[in-house]
Amino acid sequence: MAAPRVPGSGDERRLELPCGETLDPHEIDLGMREYTCACGTRHAVVTDVHPPSRFFPESLVAVLRETIDTDDEFEEFGTPHLMGVVLEEFPDRVVAFDASDDGAVGYTLVWVTDFDARRLHEIVVELVVELMEHAISHADDDDAVSEFETQMLEFDVSEFVEQYRRQRDFESEHDRPV
Ligand SMILES: [Zn+2]
Repeated sequence: MAAPRVPGSGDERRLELPCGETLDPHEIDLGMREYTCACGTRHAVVTDVHPPSRFFPESLVAVLRETIDTDDEFEEFGTPHLMGVVLEEFPDRVVAFDASDDGAVGYTLVWVTDFDARRLHEIVVELVVELMEHAISHADDDDAVSEFETQMLEFDVSEFVEQYRRQRDFESEHDRPV
């Protein structure tokens, strides 16, 4: 009997996707943000090399670094934390692959999701808003809390994602991590 396949384990050279198809991690290059799959849909691809500014502005990244404590091997809040939150929320729809022992790829970690890059972007922004709400609810400053809540009532996630993706020209192959 064949050993069970463990997605993400170091000696598994085929990454099993949530849809049931497989992907060779060596096919993933650092510029890839979406993978057109044999199942007929596109899956978002994120590597640890992609900065969080793939999803939102550097100014917000800075705020998150200030407010969120990380107690793991990563020095500061970054893409692995974002994808960790997504994975926690959608355990059946995200696969992670550890390529740290593979010198042939330029990344250490890669995540592939069942949903496409645009939907992932919305999910990441929604989860970050929740993280910030949680962080700010512990603040002593009631004014800050209510101001934040007011801003969030007006905040339209899909509108933000639309604009941000247009600004950063995500479909362009010339887009580079900043
Ligand atoms: Zn697929």
